[in-house]
Amino acid sequence: MKDGVCFVLSGLTFNLVTSCTRCSQKSGHGVAQTEEGASVGEKKEPSYIELHKTGKLKEKGQELWQIMESCRLCPRECGVNRLDNQMGFCRASSLLEISSFQPHFGEEDSLVGNGGSGTIFYTHCGLRCVFCINWRINQGGEGQPRSIKDMAQMMLDLQAMGCHNINVVTPTHYSPHIVLALDIAAEKGLKLPVVYNTCGWERLEILKKLEGVVDIYLPDFKYADGEMAAKYSSDALAYPEITKAALIEMNRQVGVARPADDGLMHRGLMIRHLVMPNRIGGTKQIVDWIAANLPRDTYFNIMSQYVPMHKASQYPKISRKITGSECREAVAWAKEAGLTNLDIQGCSLF
Ligand code: SF4
Repeated sequence: MKDGVCFVLSGLTFNLVTSCTRCSQKSGHGVAQTEEGASVGEKKEPSYIELHKTGKLKEKGQELWQIMESCRLCPRECGVNRLDNQMGFCRASSLLEISSFQPHFGEEDSLVGNGGSGTIFYTHCGLRCVFCINWRINQGGEGQPRSIKDMAQMMLDLQAMGCHNINVVTPTHYSPHIVLALDIAAEKGLKLPVVYNTCGWERLEILKKLEGVVDIYLPDFKYADGEMAAKYSSDALAYPEITKAALIEMNRQVGVARPADDGLMHRGLMIRHLVMPNRIGGTKQIVDWIAANLPRDTYFNIMSQYVPMHKASQYPKISRKITGSECREAVAWAKEAGLTNLDIQGCSLF
């Protein structure tokens, strides 16, 4: 595996990697320029523990599981019966497939700390971007079948390794499995916050079922323009509207992300935006929308590490890296919009 070191633990193989492998590409370490965002966050027990004690976590997992009978777990709303082994656009059936799990040191500082973010990488994806850095896993089917009990054990192993959170990467199509695994792991002593590391393109109905399960939402906001989303992310024309509604719901559930006094994030909304060449992502419209619709101190990571992976070379406007001036204008727009909790370290590298 690229940039990776392979380990075996509890009979399961995992890879220690130094770069983020979700479709948003490698994340920069967090250097939050915080003004209003300087207040310290609360360090508290993840809310899913209470849900587990009352039996509601399992109920939520079972409700999500039933949705796979006519699958509407993501905005594709394929309607296929995954419980009968059918596959929709994402190519996932009800069978859980996982590519790897590992302590990850390439995420934001407040998620990494000293012990790393405990990432679990799921096979398949419902968005399928042409520039996906992780396309072998998300579009090429790389991964192994696992049981829900296996996943629960991975969560416990990540906790035992000293990770600070359970970071489920590209989780949407496996949300039932994740909630059911959490229920098993909580019974056995899991107490780490859950990071829902998503492309941002989430159905409100599903997010509402995740209330109290997820502690930290880590969504992308990839495009302001539906035409761009359709072109580069498999006809996802409604991506901007769906993602905006999702971000508002995520913020309602978990609020502004503020690290606790130990420097670690325990709760909150952390938005990532990958700056793309030729203003394809619509950075200015995105920061203006956030400033107008979410708290000004919403955490916003301006990611600079776009590289033309997968099929990007076939699309002239996204077939190169971004320039320093493209990154700097993104930062300037975010500041002009009045956002006060910016992670801009990537752009400082230019
Ligand atoms: S999760 Fe997969 S099967 Fe379900 S609606 Fe989305 S793309 Fe279709």
